Amino acid sequence: MAKAPVLTPRADDFPRWYQDLINKAELADNGPVRGTMVIRPYGYGLWERMQSEMDARIKDAGVSNAYFPLFIPQSYLTREAEHVEGFAPELAVVTHGGGKELEEPVVVRPTSETIINEYFSKWVQSYRDLPLLINQWANVVRWELRPRVFLRTTEFLWQEGHTAHATYEDARDFAAHIHRNVYDEFMENVLAMDTVPGRKTARERFAGALNTLTLEAMMGDGKALQVATSHELGQNFAKAFHTQYLSKDSTQEYVWQTSWGSTTRMIGALVMMHGDDNGLRVPPRLAATQVVVVVIKEDEAALDAARKLAARLKEAGVRVQVDDRTDTPFGRRAVDWELKGVPLRVEIGPRDVAAGTAVLARRIAGGKEPVALDALPGVVPGILEEDQALLLRESRERRESRTADVTSVDEAVEAAATGWGRIPWAALGDAGEAKLAEQGVTVRCLVAEDGTVPESEDAPGTVALVARAY
Ligand code: AMP
Repeated sequence: MAKAPVLTPRADDFPRWYQDLINKAELADNGPVRGTMVIRPYGYGLWERMQSEMDARIKDAGVSNAYFPLFIPQSYLTREAEHVEGFAPELAVVTHGGGKELEEPVVVRPTSETIINEYFSKWVQSYRDLPLLINQWANVVRWELRPRVFLRTTEFLWQEGHTAHATYEDARDFAAHIHRNVYDEFMENVLAMDTVPGRKTARERFAGALNTLTLEAMMGDGKALQVATSHELGQNFAKAFHTQYLSKDSTQEYVWQTSWGSTTRMIGALVMMHGDDNGLRVPPRLAATQVVVVVIKEDEAALDAARKLAARLKEAGVRVQVDDRTDTPFGRRAVDWELKGVPLRVEIGPRDVAAGTAVLARRIAGGKEPVALDALPGVVPGILEEDQALLLRESRERRESRTADVTSVDEAVEAAATGWGRIPWAALGDAGEAKLAEQGVTVRCLVAEDGTVPESEDAPGTVALVARAY
Protein backbone atom coordinates (compact mmCIF):
# COMPACT_ATOMS: atom_id res chain seq x y z
CA MET A 1 0.00 0.00 0.00
CA ALA A 2 1.34 3.47 -0.87
CA LYS A 3 2.13 5.68 2.10
CA ALA A 4 -0.31 8.52 2.68
CA PRO A 5 1.31 11.84 1.75
CA VAL A 6 2.44 13.98 4.68
CA LEU A 7 0.82 17.06 3.13
CA THR A 8 -2.12 17.55 0.78
CA PRO A 9 -0.36 17.49 -2.62
CA ARG A 10 0.09 20.96 -4.07
CA ALA A 11 -1.54 20.00 -7.34
CA ASP A 12 -4.69 18.77 -5.54
CA ASP A 13 -5.42 21.82 -3.42
CA PHE A 14 -2.80 24.57 -3.15
CA PRO A 15 -4.44 26.52 -0.29
CA ARG A 16 -4.83 23.35 1.77
CA TRP A 17 -1.26 22.33 1.05
CA TYR A 18 -0.16 25.78 2.31
CA GLN A 19 -2.17 25.46 5.51
CA ASP A 20 -0.95 21.87 6.06
CA LEU A 21 2.64 22.93 5.63
CA ILE A 22 2.28 25.86 8.05
CA ASN A 23 0.86 23.46 10.67
CA LYS A 24 3.14 20.48 10.16
CA ALA A 25 6.38 22.42 9.80
CA GLU A 26 5.35 24.16 13.05
CA LEU A 27 5.54 27.67 11.61
CA ALA A 28 2.35 29.12 13.12
CA ASP A 29 -1.03 28.50 14.71
CA ASN A 30 -4.15 30.56 14.26
CA GLY A 31 -4.75 33.01 17.13
CA PRO A 32 -8.02 33.14 19.07
CA VAL A 33 -9.14 36.40 17.44
CA ARG A 34 -9.92 35.90 13.75
CA GLY A 35 -7.00 36.83 11.52
CA THR A 36 -4.38 36.77 14.25
CA MET A 37 -1.57 34.22 14.47
CA VAL A 38 0.85 32.71 16.92
CA ILE A 39 4.28 32.51 15.32
CA ARG A 40 5.89 29.32 16.62
CA PRO A 41 9.63 29.11 17.35
CA TYR A 42 10.61 27.63 13.98
CA GLY A 43 8.61 30.28 12.10
CA TYR A 44 9.90 33.03 14.36
CA GLY A 45 13.45 31.82 13.71
CA LEU A 46 12.87 32.49 10.00
CA TRP A 47 11.63 35.99 10.87
CA GLU A 48 14.64 36.67 13.10
CA ARG A 49 17.00 35.76 10.27
CA MET A 50 15.02 37.99 7.88
CA GLN A 51 15.17 40.81 10.41
CA SER A 52 18.90 40.60 10.94
CA GLU A 53 19.71 40.45 7.22
CA MET A 54 17.30 43.26 6.41
CA ASP A 55 18.32 45.39 9.38
CA ALA A 56 21.97 45.33 8.26
CA ARG A 57 20.94 46.51 4.80
CA ILE A 58 18.70 49.25 6.20
CA LYS A 59 21.55 50.52 8.37
CA ASP A 60 23.91 50.42 5.37
CA ALA A 61 21.47 52.81 3.69
CA GLY A 62 22.17 55.25 6.55
CA VAL A 63 18.89 54.69 8.42
CA SER A 64 18.61 54.53 12.25
CA ASN A 65 16.08 52.52 14.24
CA ALA A 66 13.65 54.20 16.64
CA TYR A 67 10.31 53.36 18.27
CA PHE A 68 7.00 55.21 18.23
CA PRO A 69 3.83 54.43 20.23
CA LEU A 70 1.32 51.74 19.30
CA PHE A 71 -1.60 54.10 20.07
CA ILE A 72 -2.28 57.02 17.75
CA PRO A 73 -4.84 59.78 18.45
CA GLN A 74 -7.69 59.24 16.00
CA SER A 75 -7.52 62.89 14.96
CA TYR A 76 -4.02 62.36 13.50
CA LEU A 77 -5.36 59.95 10.91
CA THR A 78 -8.00 62.34 9.71
CA ARG A 79 -5.45 65.05 8.89
CA GLU A 80 -4.43 63.48 5.57
CA ALA A 81 -7.64 62.96 3.62
CA GLU A 82 -6.61 60.14 1.28
CA HIS A 83 -4.75 58.34 4.03
CA VAL A 84 -7.76 58.18 6.33
CA GLU A 85 -10.06 57.20 3.50
CA GLY A 86 -7.76 54.32 2.56
CA PHE A 87 -7.27 53.06 6.09
CA ALA A 88 -10.65 53.74 7.73
CA PRO A 89 -12.18 50.34 6.94
CA GLU A 90 -9.17 48.54 8.43
CA LEU A 91 -8.79 50.45 11.70
CA ALA A 92 -9.02 48.98 15.19
CA VAL A 93 -10.17 51.80 17.47
CA VAL A 94 -9.88 51.83 21.26
CA THR A 95 -12.74 53.74 22.91
CA HIS A 96 -12.27 52.66 26.54
CA GLY A 97 -9.28 52.61 28.87
CA GLY A 98 -9.06 52.00 32.60
CA GLY A 99 -12.78 51.32 32.69
CA LYS A 100 -13.73 54.75 31.31
CA GLU A 101 -14.71 56.03 27.91
CA LEU A 102 -11.76 57.94 26.43
CA GLU A 103 -12.18 61.61 25.58
CA GLU A 104 -10.66 60.96 22.19
CA PRO A 105 -10.58 57.43 20.78
CA VAL A 106 -7.15 56.09 19.92
CA VAL A 107 -6.28 54.02 16.91
CA VAL A 108 -4.02 50.96 17.07
CA ARG A 109 -1.36 51.84 14.48
CA PRO A 110 -2.08 50.46 11.01
CA THR A 111 1.11 52.26 9.84
CA SER A 112 2.91 55.22 11.42
CA GLU A 113 3.16 58.07 8.89
CA THR A 114 0.92 60.30 11.00
CA ILE A 115 2.48 59.91 14.43
CA ILE A 116 5.99 59.97 13.00
CA ASN A 117 5.25 63.22 11.19
CA GLU A 118 4.03 64.76 14.41
CA TYR A 119 7.56 64.23 15.77
CA PHE A 120 9.42 64.95 12.55
CA SER A 121 7.76 68.37 12.60
CA LYS A 122 9.45 68.98 15.98
CA TRP A 123 12.82 67.50 15.09
CA VAL A 124 13.29 69.12 11.70
CA GLN A 125 14.16 72.82 11.86
CA SER A 126 16.67 73.55 9.14
CA TYR A 127 18.12 72.00 6.01
CA ARG A 128 20.96 70.74 8.26
CA ASP A 129 18.53 68.28 9.89
CA LEU A 130 17.87 66.60 6.55
CA PRO A 131 17.74 63.94 5.38
CA LEU A 132 16.14 62.38 8.45
CA LEU A 133 16.19 58.61 8.03
CA ILE A 134 14.23 56.47 10.54
CA ASN A 135 13.10 52.85 10.65
CA GLN A 136 11.01 51.02 13.21
CA TRP A 137 10.54 47.30 13.85
CA ALA A 138 7.05 46.85 15.25
CA ASN A 139 3.65 45.20 15.03
CA VAL A 140 0.71 46.82 13.25
CA VAL A 141 -3.00 46.08 13.08
CA ARG A 142 -5.23 46.20 9.99
CA TRP A 143 -8.69 44.66 10.33
CA GLU A 144 -8.46 42.39 7.31
CA LEU A 145 -11.70 40.89 5.99
CA ARG A 146 -10.11 37.93 4.26
CA PRO A 147 -7.18 36.90 6.44
CA ARG A 148 -4.72 34.15 5.59
CA VAL A 149 -1.89 33.15 7.89
CA PHE A 150 1.34 35.12 7.24
CA LEU A 151 0.09 36.54 3.92
CA ARG A 152 -2.66 38.74 5.31
CA THR A 153 -3.14 38.83 9.07
CA THR A 154 -4.90 41.43 11.18
CA GLU A 155 -1.79 41.88 13.28
CA PHE A 156 1.57 41.50 11.60
CA LEU A 157 5.22 42.23 12.32
CA TRP A 158 7.15 44.53 10.04
CA GLN A 159 9.72 47.19 9.56
CA GLU A 160 8.49 50.57 8.45
CA GLY A 161 10.96 53.16 7.18
CA HIS A 162 10.10 56.86 7.24
CA THR A 163 12.34 59.53 5.78
CA ALA A 164 12.28 63.29 5.19
CA HIS A 165 14.34 65.06 2.52
CA ALA A 166 14.96 68.60 1.33
CA THR A 167 14.01 67.98 -2.30
CA TYR A 168 11.64 65.92 -4.39
CA GLU A 169 14.59 64.33 -6.21
CA ASP A 170 16.28 63.22 -2.97
CA ALA A 171 13.10 61.59 -1.71
CA ARG A 172 12.37 59.93 -5.06
CA ASP A 173 15.91 58.56 -5.24
CA PHE A 174 15.80 57.29 -1.67
CA ALA A 175 12.53 55.41 -2.20
CA ALA A 176 14.12 53.84 -5.29
CA HIS A 177 17.33 53.04 -3.42
CA ILE A 178 15.43 51.09 -0.73
CA HIS A 179 13.33 49.35 -3.37
CA ARG A 180 16.38 48.22 -5.35
CA ASN A 181 19.29 47.94 -2.98
CA VAL A 182 17.55 46.82 0.18
CA TYR A 183 14.36 44.97 -0.81
CA ASP A 184 15.16 43.59 -4.24
CA GLU A 185 18.72 42.71 -3.26
CA PHE A 186 17.50 40.92 -0.11
CA MET A 187 14.77 38.99 -1.92
CA GLU A 188 17.16 37.81 -4.59
CA ASN A 189 20.33 37.16 -2.61
CA VAL A 190 18.91 35.91 0.69
CA LEU A 191 15.39 34.61 0.01
CA ALA A 192 16.35 33.31 -3.48
CA MET A 193 13.07 34.80 -4.70
CA ASP A 194 12.73 36.14 -8.18
CA THR A 195 10.65 39.31 -7.97
CA VAL A 196 9.59 41.91 -10.49
CA PRO A 197 10.29 45.52 -9.48
CA GLY A 198 7.70 47.93 -10.79
CA ARG A 199 5.41 50.85 -10.00
CA LYS A 200 1.79 50.62 -8.90
CA THR A 201 -1.03 52.15 -10.90
CA ALA A 202 -2.99 55.00 -9.30
CA ARG A 203 -5.67 52.49 -8.30
CA GLU A 204 -3.26 50.26 -6.38
CA ARG A 205 -1.11 52.98 -4.83
CA PHE A 206 -0.64 53.44 -1.04
CA ALA A 207 -3.26 55.76 0.46
CA GLY A 208 -1.66 59.21 0.55
CA ALA A 209 1.33 58.48 -1.73
CA LEU A 210 2.39 60.08 -5.02
CA ASN A 211 3.97 56.88 -6.21
CA THR A 212 4.34 53.32 -4.91
CA LEU A 213 7.21 51.06 -5.94
CA THR A 214 6.55 47.37 -5.46
CA LEU A 215 8.16 43.95 -5.74
CA GLU A 216 5.81 41.32 -7.11
CA ALA A 217 6.57 37.61 -6.83
CA MET A 218 4.95 34.63 -8.55
CA MET A 219 3.88 31.93 -6.13
CA GLY A 220 3.96 28.19 -6.86
CA ASP A 221 0.37 28.27 -8.17
CA GLY A 222 0.99 31.15 -10.58
CA LYS A 223 -0.71 33.82 -8.45
CA ALA A 224 1.07 37.04 -7.51
CA LEU A 225 2.09 38.38 -4.11
CA GLN A 226 3.22 41.91 -3.32
CA VAL A 227 6.23 41.27 -1.10
CA ALA A 228 7.42 44.79 -0.25
CA THR A 229 6.59 48.38 -1.12
CA SER A 230 8.41 51.71 -1.08
CA HIS A 231 6.39 54.92 -1.36
CA GLU A 232 7.13 58.45 -2.49
CA LEU A 233 4.85 60.44 -0.19
CA GLY A 234 5.57 63.82 -1.75
CA GLN A 235 4.60 66.63 0.66
CA ASN A 236 1.16 65.29 1.60
CA PHE A 237 1.97 64.36 5.19
CA ALA A 238 4.40 67.27 5.57
CA LYS A 239 1.55 69.68 4.78
CA ALA A 240 -0.88 67.89 7.10
CA PHE A 241 1.62 67.95 9.99
CA HIS A 242 3.54 71.17 9.15
CA THR A 243 6.85 69.38 8.74
CA GLN A 244 8.90 72.30 7.47
CA TYR A 245 12.53 73.35 7.37
CA LEU A 246 14.44 76.58 6.93
CA SER A 247 16.25 76.36 3.60
CA LYS A 248 19.72 77.73 2.80
CA ASP A 249 17.92 80.72 1.31
CA SER A 250 16.09 81.28 4.62
CA THR A 251 12.68 80.29 3.29
CA GLN A 252 10.30 77.85 5.03
CA GLU A 253 9.84 74.72 2.91
CA TYR A 254 7.87 71.52 3.37
CA VAL A 255 9.95 68.33 3.46
CA TRP A 256 9.62 65.57 0.86
CA GLN A 257 9.04 62.11 2.30
CA THR A 258 9.21 58.37 1.75
CA SER A 259 7.91 55.35 3.63
CA TRP A 260 8.57 51.66 3.00
CA GLY A 261 7.61 48.38 4.59
CA SER A 262 8.18 44.64 4.56
CA THR A 263 6.42 42.17 6.82
CA THR A 264 5.94 38.63 8.15
CA ARG A 265 4.16 38.12 4.80
CA MET A 266 7.63 37.23 3.51
CA ILE A 267 7.42 33.95 5.47
CA GLY A 268 4.26 33.04 3.58
CA ALA A 269 5.99 34.03 0.34
CA LEU A 270 8.87 31.74 1.15
CA VAL A 271 6.49 28.82 1.68
CA MET A 272 4.45 29.44 -1.47
CA MET A 273 7.54 30.03 -3.56
CA HIS A 274 9.96 27.32 -2.46
CA GLY A 275 7.73 24.74 -0.78
CA ASP A 276 7.03 21.35 -2.36
CA ASP A 277 4.95 18.28 -1.55
CA ASN A 278 7.38 17.29 1.21
CA GLY A 279 7.39 20.66 2.94
CA LEU A 280 9.35 23.88 3.00
CA ARG A 281 12.76 24.37 1.38
CA VAL A 282 14.65 27.11 3.19
CA PRO A 283 17.26 28.98 1.13
CA PRO A 284 20.67 28.23 2.71
CA ARG A 285 21.58 31.89 3.20
CA LEU A 286 18.42 32.41 5.23
CA ALA A 287 18.40 29.14 7.16
CA ALA A 288 19.19 29.42 10.88
CA THR A 289 20.20 25.76 10.60
CA GLN A 290 21.85 24.99 7.27
CA VAL A 291 22.90 21.45 8.14
CA VAL A 292 21.36 19.06 10.62
CA VAL A 293 23.54 16.12 11.63
CA VAL A 294 21.16 13.30 12.52
CA VAL A 295 22.32 10.47 14.78
CA ILE A 296 20.39 7.49 13.43
CA LYS A 297 20.26 5.42 16.63
CA GLU A 298 21.74 5.46 20.09
CA ASP A 299 25.40 4.66 19.73
CA GLU A 300 28.41 6.30 21.40
CA ALA A 301 30.61 6.21 18.32
CA ALA A 302 27.90 7.71 16.06
CA LEU A 303 27.13 10.43 18.57
CA ASP A 304 30.79 11.24 18.95
CA ALA A 305 31.31 11.37 15.17
CA ALA A 306 28.23 13.62 14.80
CA ARG A 307 29.51 16.10 17.40
CA LYS A 308 32.98 16.18 15.88
CA LEU A 309 31.54 16.75 12.42
CA ALA A 310 29.30 19.54 13.71
CA ALA A 311 32.29 21.28 15.30
CA ARG A 312 34.26 21.08 12.04
CA LEU A 313 31.31 22.36 9.99
CA LYS A 314 30.93 25.26 12.40
CA GLU A 315 34.61 26.08 11.93
CA ALA A 316 33.97 26.09 8.19
CA GLY A 317 31.34 28.81 8.77
CA VAL A 318 28.27 26.56 8.47
CA ARG A 319 25.22 26.96 10.75
CA VAL A 320 24.80 23.43 12.08
CA GLN A 321 22.72 21.52 14.62
CA VAL A 322 22.98 17.94 15.95
CA ASP A 323 19.78 15.89 16.22
CA ASP A 324 20.53 13.25 18.87
CA ARG A 325 16.91 12.53 19.85
CA THR A 326 17.44 8.82 19.34
CA ASP A 327 14.36 7.97 21.40
CA THR A 328 12.26 9.29 18.47
CA PRO A 329 12.27 6.93 15.46
CA PHE A 330 14.76 8.03 12.80
CA GLY A 331 12.13 7.97 10.03
CA ARG A 332 9.90 10.40 11.85
CA ARG A 333 12.75 12.80 12.48
CA ALA A 334 13.80 12.62 8.83
CA VAL A 335 10.25 13.51 7.71
CA ASP A 336 10.22 16.40 10.18
CA TRP A 337 13.48 17.88 8.84
CA GLU A 338 12.11 17.53 5.31
CA LEU A 339 8.97 19.41 6.37
CA LYS A 340 11.02 22.16 7.97
CA GLY A 341 13.18 22.41 4.89
CA VAL A 342 16.63 22.41 6.47
CA PRO A 343 18.87 22.48 3.36
CA LEU A 344 21.22 19.58 4.19
CA ARG A 345 20.85 16.51 6.39
CA VAL A 346 23.84 14.36 7.31
CA GLU A 347 22.81 10.96 8.66
CA ILE A 348 25.28 9.04 10.80
CA GLY A 349 24.83 5.52 12.23
CA PRO A 350 27.27 2.97 13.66
CA ARG A 351 27.89 1.36 10.27
CA ASP A 352 28.70 4.72 8.69
CA VAL A 353 31.22 5.53 11.41
CA ALA A 354 32.95 2.22 10.86
CA ALA A 355 33.23 3.00 7.15
CA GLY A 356 34.27 6.63 7.78
CA THR A 357 31.26 7.91 5.83
CA ALA A 358 27.85 9.51 6.34
CA VAL A 359 24.80 9.87 4.13
CA LEU A 360 24.21 13.37 2.76
CA ALA A 361 20.56 14.18 1.91
CA ARG A 362 19.94 17.34 -0.12
CA ARG A 363 16.54 18.88 0.57
CA ILE A 364 16.69 21.42 -2.25
CA ALA A 365 18.35 19.61 -5.15
CA GLY A 366 17.03 16.23 -3.94
CA GLY A 367 18.96 12.96 -3.67
CA LYS A 368 20.96 11.10 -1.05
CA GLU A 369 24.51 9.82 -1.28
CA PRO A 370 27.30 8.52 0.93
CA VAL A 371 30.13 11.00 1.50
CA ALA A 372 33.43 10.58 3.39
CA LEU A 373 33.06 12.19 6.82
CA ASP A 374 36.40 13.95 6.43
CA ALA A 375 35.37 15.47 3.11
CA LEU A 376 32.13 17.08 4.36
CA PRO A 377 33.49 20.33 5.86
CA GLY A 378 35.24 20.99 2.57
CA VAL A 379 32.27 20.38 0.27
CA VAL A 380 29.27 21.61 2.30
CA PRO A 381 29.74 25.40 1.81
CA GLY A 382 29.86 24.92 -1.97
CA ILE A 383 26.78 22.69 -2.00
CA LEU A 384 24.83 25.26 0.04
CA GLU A 385 25.66 27.98 -2.48
CA GLU A 386 24.69 25.71 -5.39
CA ASP A 387 21.33 25.03 -3.77
CA GLN A 388 20.77 28.71 -3.06
CA ALA A 389 21.32 29.43 -6.76
CA LEU A 390 19.06 26.55 -7.79
CA LEU A 391 16.10 27.96 -5.83
CA LEU A 392 16.48 31.35 -7.45
CA ARG A 393 16.77 29.79 -10.90
CA GLU A 394 13.64 27.67 -10.34
CA SER A 395 11.63 30.70 -9.25
CA ARG A 396 12.79 32.76 -12.23
CA GLU A 397 12.05 29.95 -14.68
CA ARG A 398 8.58 29.49 -13.25
CA ARG A 399 7.74 33.15 -13.72
CA GLU A 400 9.17 33.27 -17.22
CA SER A 401 7.42 30.10 -18.38
CA ARG A 402 4.07 31.14 -16.87
CA THR A 403 3.95 34.71 -18.15
CA ALA A 404 2.15 35.25 -21.45
CA ASP A 405 2.12 38.32 -23.72
CA VAL A 406 -1.48 39.39 -24.33
CA THR A 407 -3.26 42.25 -26.05
CA SER A 408 -6.80 42.37 -24.67
CA VAL A 409 -8.70 42.23 -21.37
CA ASP A 410 -10.15 38.82 -22.23
CA GLU A 411 -6.74 37.37 -23.02
CA ALA A 412 -5.36 38.89 -19.82
CA VAL A 413 -8.06 37.16 -17.76
CA GLU A 414 -7.23 33.90 -19.49
CA ALA A 415 -3.50 34.30 -18.79
CA ALA A 416 -4.28 35.00 -15.13
CA ALA A 417 -5.96 31.60 -14.81
CA THR A 418 -2.54 29.90 -14.79
CA GLY A 419 0.01 32.67 -14.40
CA TRP A 420 0.62 36.29 -15.34
CA GLY A 421 -0.23 38.36 -18.40
CA ARG A 422 1.90 41.14 -19.90
CA ILE A 423 -0.04 43.79 -21.76
CA PRO A 424 0.96 47.23 -23.05
CA TRP A 425 -0.38 49.77 -20.54
CA ALA A 426 -1.54 51.95 -23.42
CA ALA A 427 -3.83 49.09 -24.55
CA LEU A 428 -5.27 48.62 -21.05
CA GLY A 429 -5.45 51.94 -19.21
CA ASP A 430 -7.67 52.80 -16.25
CA ALA A 431 -10.79 51.52 -18.01
CA GLY A 432 -9.23 48.15 -18.84
CA GLU A 433 -7.86 47.93 -15.31
CA ALA A 434 -11.37 48.44 -13.90
CA LYS A 435 -12.76 45.74 -16.20
CA LEU A 436 -10.07 43.31 -15.06
CA ALA A 437 -10.84 44.08 -11.43
CA GLU A 438 -14.47 43.03 -11.98
CA GLN A 439 -13.10 39.57 -12.74
CA GLY A 440 -10.71 39.47 -9.78
CA VAL A 441 -7.60 40.25 -11.80
CA THR A 442 -5.36 43.20 -10.88
CA VAL A 443 -2.52 45.14 -12.39
CA ARG A 444 0.34 44.04 -10.15
CA CYS A 445 2.75 46.62 -11.48
CA LEU A 446 3.93 48.63 -14.44
CA VAL A 447 7.36 47.93 -15.89
CA ALA A 448 9.42 49.40 -18.71
CA GLU A 449 10.21 47.24 -21.73
CA ASP A 450 13.80 46.76 -20.58
CA GLY A 451 12.64 45.55 -17.15
CA THR A 452 13.39 48.80 -15.31
CA VAL A 453 10.81 50.85 -13.41
CA PRO A 454 9.07 53.41 -15.66
CA GLU A 455 9.42 57.08 -14.72
CA SER A 456 5.67 57.55 -15.01
CA GLU A 457 2.52 55.71 -16.06
CA ASP A 458 2.64 57.42 -19.42
CA ALA A 459 6.25 56.58 -20.27
CA PRO A 460 6.25 55.10 -23.79
CA GLY A 461 6.58 51.32 -23.88
CA THR A 462 5.19 50.81 -20.36
CA VAL A 463 3.87 47.29 -19.85
CA ALA A 464 1.34 46.13 -17.21
CA LEU A 465 1.79 42.79 -15.44
CA VAL A 466 -1.63 41.42 -14.55
CA ALA A 467 -2.54 38.49 -12.31
CA ARG A 468 -4.72 37.15 -9.58
CA ALA A 469 -3.09 37.99 -6.29
CA TYR A 470 -2.96 36.92 -2.65
P1 AMP B 1 1.83 49.23 3.04
O1 AMP B 1 2.20 50.02 4.26
O2 AMP B 1 0.36 49.12 2.85
O3 AMP B 1 2.57 49.63 1.82
O4 AMP B 1 2.29 47.72 3.37
C1 AMP B 1 3.63 47.33 3.31
C2 AMP B 1 3.71 45.87 2.96
O5 AMP B 1 3.08 45.11 3.95
C3 AMP B 1 2.95 45.48 1.69
O6 AMP B 1 3.76 45.65 0.56
C4 AMP B 1 2.63 44.02 1.92
O7 AMP B 1 3.69 43.23 1.43
C5 AMP B 1 2.57 43.90 3.42
N1 AMP B 1 1.21 43.75 3.98
C6 AMP B 1 0.13 44.55 3.77
N2 AMP B 1 -0.93 44.11 4.47
C7 AMP B 1 -0.53 43.01 5.15
C8 AMP B 1 -1.18 42.10 6.05
N3 AMP B 1 -2.45 42.25 6.41
N4 AMP B 1 -0.44 41.07 6.56
C9 AMP B 1 0.86 40.93 6.22
N5 AMP B 1 1.51 41.75 5.40
C10 AMP B 1 0.85 42.78 4.85
